[in-house]
Amino acid sequence: MNFTSIAIDGPAGAGKSTLARKLAEKLGYIYVDTGAIYRTVALKVLWEKADPADPAQVVPLLEGLEIHMGYEDGAQKMYLEGEDVSGAIRRHKVSGAASQVSAIPEVRSFLLEFQRKLARESSVVMDGRDIGTVVLPNADVKIFLTAAPEARARRRLLELEQRGETADFDTILRDIKERDYQDEHRPIAPLKQAADAVLLDTTDLDLGQSMSRLLALVKEKIGP
Ligand code: C5P
Repeated sequence: MNFTSIAIDGPAGAGKSTLARKLAEKLGYIYVDTGAIYRTVALKVLWEKADPADPAQVVPLLEGLEIHMGYEDGAQKMYLEGEDVSGAIRRHKVSGAASQVSAIPEVRSFLLEFQRKLARESSVVMDGRDIGTVVLPNADVKIFLTAAPEARARRRLLELEQRGETADFDTILRDIKERDYQDEHRPIAPLKQAADAVLLDTTDLDLGQSMSRLLALVKEKIGP
């Protein structure tokens, strides 16, 4: 059986996960949020009070790591050692740690097969940083979704506030820029647009407009 894969990469807060989830729903594909997988590894590191930036402390934790993914009402759920950590991995502290652990080559290769297997078994819309470049280089559609850092920070602030977390704009903007820098400059699988990816800049688009553009791009590639 031939499955279709759609890779959506881009920096934090560009609207990837919301758009990718809605796209998957429309197409009847499985939505895979790969950032959530890195976040779950980061949470384990924080649980163990290890330093997420230190490979010597992180790599030994990969052995026997118990991560599972599931779906509930179409939403992706992450389980760490059997515990539903879907909410916990969204905490602000976990974002920075995820960016740090994701720069460790052993972490990336550990998760590579996990992600590829999902795309072998179903049609997927997969979002992340290196899906079009490394994980699914033969994806049927590749989109690079981005937006100006200020627009992304505004969206992230709103998202955190809706979850009842307190945060301020300047801190979020600084963290976003720092995370972009880390993600773009790491030697392994850095965040970058694949040569054959289509760029979609959502700075001046609302969610509905972004979705229409995305759908049009996808239809152009794989047909209606
Ligand atoms: O997308 P999200 O912000 O949840 O991802 C958290 C972190 O995981 C990112 O900052 C990035 O460093 C890392 N990540 C990655 N490769 C992916 C997805 C996420 O390195 N495919």
